[in-house]
Amino acid sequence: APRTAMGTTKRIETGCVRKICSGQVIVDVATAIKELVENALDAGATRVDVKLMGSGCDEIEVSDNGRGIGPGDFEGVARRYATSKLRDFGDLERGVSSFGFRGEALASLCELAGSVEVVTRDAGASAGTRLKYGRDGGIVAQSVAPRAVGTTVTARDLFKPLPVRRADLERNAKRHFAKAVRLLQAYALVARSARLRVTNVPRNTKRPSVVLQAQAGRAMTDAVAALFGARFAATLEPLEDAKFEGLASRATGDGVGRAEGDRQFFFVNGRPIDAPKLARAANDVWRHFEMKHKPAIFLDLRLAPGNVDVNCAPDKREVVIDNENGLVAALKDKLHALWAPTSRDARAFVPG
Ligand code: ADP
Ligand code: MG
Repeated sequence: APRTAMGTTKRIETGCVRKICSGQVIVDVATAIKELVENALDAGATRVDVKLMGSGCDEIEVSDNGRGIGPGDFEGVARRYATSKLRDFGDLERGVSSFGFRGEALASLCELAGSVEVVTRDAGASAGTRLKYGRDGGIVAQSVAPRAVGTTVTARDLFKPLPVRRADLERNAKRHFAKAVRLLQAYALVARSARLRVTNVPRNTKRPSVVLQAQAGRAMTDAVAALFGARFAATLEPLEDAKFEGLASRATGDGVGRAEGDRQFFFVNGRPIDAPKLARAANDVWRHFEMKHKPAIFLDLRLAPGNVDVNCAPDKREVVIDNENGLVAALKDKLHALWAPTSRDARAFVPG
């Protein structure tokens, strides 16, 4: 065939690009809920209520008593890369304290849910406003609605526009729900300025049940007790270091079973993260002392903003930590001291 100036690479159509990007921010029910809870916390809420219908497949509703959205922002909030939290890249380098900063969550949700509705009221408004957003993040309906200051976001039928993902969600609803609960537990553990309450109306029973509930203003141990029981919380020992604080299982292995091994939560400056290297380090030390199952560990890293990059992936779960190996070594040292048989024996002889 004759060569022409026409190549085979073509620019992807804008609508398609939007779908591709949205699919990276909101990958499942868990990330959808996470984004909404983060927005509530970023709005300074002291109460956050998550109500799920059909384990999140049918409906996800997150209500908060935060500062609400002002009329000037109604049009912008669900537009892509619209955020009130980040002005320039310098903000990112200086370290963001808000959970959100990419301005993608609401836009992605509009793209990926069957419908998105927001009811909000800020301090300057005399009543609430109900807003329905379309697929492109534009307002399609607006009306007055009663509401106290704060925001409620309702997303229905997640992934309706993506049949394959929707089918996966329906088929694996249980697993997706379990992942969502775990993520919510992580937020309940660190977001202690707010009371978090999660309910679900399962498809089969149609009756709401409390999934988790955690009061505001507690220490990490209290939060652990609220989520996993006081008896389990009492099996943990504090972990303190210049760069982290947290809790870990005791060497006696009390409270360590199959289920408790899942209780490994990592945070950096109060942001839940995936920290596979740190988890592996903890498990290695545990195994080194030939202890069964996996230890429970709750670890909040305290790092200077310049030493951590949270903007590695759209869901911000992956982070790059400066000198992570040093941190791993410090954690291993602490855990060795905590779990070594000598300290175990020493503890056994403490009177009382
Ligand atoms: P980001 O959180 O990265 O800014 P989002 O798409 O999650 O992006 O939200 C866009 C904007 O909508 C936020 O910057 C905020 O101004 C506003 N917003 C979203 N949710 C809430 C809420 N619950 N309360 C107050 N403002 C909100
Ligand atoms: Mg957000």
